[in-house]
Amino acid sequence: DGDAENTPIRLVKKSHADSKWSDTTPYTSRKKLQSWFQLPDGNWELGTILKTSGNESLISLAEGKVLKVNSESLVPANPDILDGVDDLMQLSYLNEPSVLYNLQYRYDRDVIYTKAGPVLVAINPFKKVSLYGNDYIDAYKRKTMDSPHVYAITDTAMREMIRDEVNQSIIISGESGAGKTETAKIAMQYLAALGGGSGIEYEILKTNPILEAFGNAKTLRNDNSSRFGKLIEIHFSDTGKISGARIQTCKITSSRVVQCSEGERSYHIFYQLCAGAPAILREKLNLKNADEFKYLSQSNCFTISGVDDAEQFRVVKEALDIVHVKKDDQDSVFAMLAAVLWLGNVSFTVIDSENHVEPMVDEGLTTVATLIGCNVDELKLALSTRKMRVGNDTIVQKLTLAQAIDTRDALAKSIYSCLFDWLVEQINKSLSVGKRRTGRSISILDIYGFESFERNSFEQFCINYANERLQQHFNRHLFKLEQEEYIQDGIDWARVDFEDNQDCLNLFEKKPLGLQSLLDEESMFPNGTDLSFANKLKQHLKSNPCFRGERGKAFSVRHYAGEVTYDTTGFLEKNRDLLHLDSIHLLSSCTCQLPQAFASSMLTQSEKPVVGALYKSGGADSQKLSVTTKFKGQLFQLMKRLENTTPHFIRCIKPNNFQSPGSYNQGLVLQQLRCCGVLEVVRISRSGFPTRMSHQKFARRYGFLLLDHVASQDPLSVSVAILHQFNILPEMYQVGYTKLFFRTGQMGVLEDTRNRT
Ligand code: ATP
Ligand code: MG
Repeated sequence: DGDAENTPIRLVKKSHADSKWSDTTPYTSRKKLQSWFQLPDGNWELGTILKTSGNESLISLAEGKVLKVNSESLVPANPDILDGVDDLMQLSYLNEPSVLYNLQYRYDRDVIYTKAGPVLVAINPFKKVSLYGNDYIDAYKRKTMDSPHVYAITDTAMREMIRDEVNQSIIISGESGAGKTETAKIAMQYLAALGGGSGIEYEILKTNPILEAFGNAKTLRNDNSSRFGKLIEIHFSDTGKISGARIQTCKITSSRVVQCSEGERSYHIFYQLCAGAPAILREKLNLKNADEFKYLSQSNCFTISGVDDAEQFRVVKEALDIVHVKKDDQDSVFAMLAAVLWLGNVSFTVIDSENHVEPMVDEGLTTVATLIGCNVDELKLALSTRKMRVGNDTIVQKLTLAQAIDTRDALAKSIYSCLFDWLVEQINKSLSVGKRRTGRSISILDIYGFESFERNSFEQFCINYANERLQQHFNRHLFKLEQEEYIQDGIDWARVDFEDNQDCLNLFEKKPLGLQSLLDEESMFPNGTDLSFANKLKQHLKSNPCFRGERGKAFSVRHYAGEVTYDTTGFLEKNRDLLHLDSIHLLSSCTCQLPQAFASSMLTQSEKPVVGALYKSGGADSQKLSVTTKFKGQLFQLMKRLENTTPHFIRCIKPNNFQSPGSYNQGLVLQQLRCCGVLEVVRISRSGFPTRMSHQKFARRYGFLLLDHVASQDPLSVSVAILHQFNILPEMYQVGYTKLFFRTGQMGVLEDTRNRT
């Protein structure tokens, strides 16, 4: 993904005097106008049209350069007066270079937020910007400030929740490192400030350091990268005060625990524990420095610049106290973490001529046994043998080195994964509002954005599928529902075509011949391989327009955000994510409470009715849901929560790949704008009437502002009188059978007057 960094698009805009515009004259027939010209290297430069004849134009560029170019290659630039507008909707010319220029103009002035119609675009500043804190919160609350901001969109959500009595959601998306998690926290702070009072808001905010410690890690793209998707539903009482919250997560696997590439780290909590545990705990858990644990040392990266892990450990501990995780439970959590680390240090010796192995009985093995509360011999057996059922007999198979390492790593991953889920459950219990849920809620979704790298694997396959789902939600909401509503209400509105991604979703979800079903099916076959999987895809899906078979083990999918080629290497194994039944039995026999709880949660999971594909491998392995199926299930639960909410979208954008302030790479920004369809949204919003209200509601809400008496008191007449009194221009609204429809920004005056009255 470093490619974009090498091909920046440079935008140079000079100041110029003459700028008379009108949207109606054919653009290229006008002279002396400013225009974007794309240089052969992809860069856009601003020039002035000197002369146009036929389809050729003479354009003067920077440094006295004059070129004869094809008129069609010119893209109109906006007049200076529109430099840095708040909302891209206000641009006279809505094209890529103009949008890029506008966003950069603002970004250069530390104005990182811009509206794109109903969507808020946030560009990561990678530095502290003075846009937050109590003064700003206050200003947005009192509406003395209204420039685009997370506070503003959150404020709107809050108001609409109360006004319309409908649950709201704030959906944040963007690439890794774009600022989703920070944005989510900023929104939560605003809600806490507005709806606080009971003290529970403080607990809710404290879930952030906990979940980040256990679910985030340093990656090459982001020092604090969330490795899970999160939806937090914040509940309000009838009086608009926060009464509780509920967190739902969505994650792929915790493979980072056992494997992590050079320069990246495992989850923060491991380093925090090693650096920050007080002496008594260190001794009790036999903790060492991070570099003495193999799982942590393999990537050769232990610290994050500017981060004090020891200090963070205290922050996390305090947060655990605040969300009422009991001291005993906290100790159990730390013991599980230490057990995972020590598992990584378990090594094996070959015991026979067939390369079978046994774990060495050393500090690693004995410490793990102590920490999880099992017998050393039982642990030894679980890590080096596997019970197989053959007919009615049970045979014991010895493991080879590779099998034993897989078994050990699978156990470590499972313990960590269960620990994470267990923690979320504890937090939810503590924040729960119980059954007396009377009020409404605002949900905030922070989930990984679309990913397309040089090499794309199983993780990207899952993430991009999730993004197709989200995109459909976005499309449905902004375009489809909108059109349907206009048609229903008899509104004259030119249809706007939009990319529907249902075909791509079908490619993933169709049963039995979709990507996910075929993957689950192949994962079930003991002899299935990544190659046989790839071949099966090619065989069954070759005629699907969203699919393309590639050479060897690869295939491509045409996503809404572009085509991505996936390498199937490791797909089957990652999808199976097997934990042997022997390991589960080991956990259930432990004397400690957490391992037991984990074992029973894994067993109940496998005994659940068949939700998707259940599979068995070899007959005696744990029977459980495949990773794809589980991920899809979690995603559906998230999406279900979003249904029946009024969504508010925030698109985060990463301006460079170096996590550094002040650098704005046009090519990179453009690619992200395209991925999230920002331009389309603006285009559609401009041609539509996104604000609507029933005649009754409108008359009731603003009727009292009428200065003159209205002869007829029916809602429609009252509504029309209000529109006239406030001078709302005819092209700014439409009257439907049941509702009034407005273009964006029209209700502002009415609301302001109403609030002042
Ligand atoms: P991932 O998908 O990897 O979790 P993300 O989109 O959640 O990425 P964040 O972790 O929110 O990205 O942001 C990455 C970094 O960018 C933050 O650690 C912070 O340094 C910086 N950052 C993001 N938003 C802001 C902001 N509004 N002000 C200052 N810095 C910010
Ligand atoms: Mg994040």
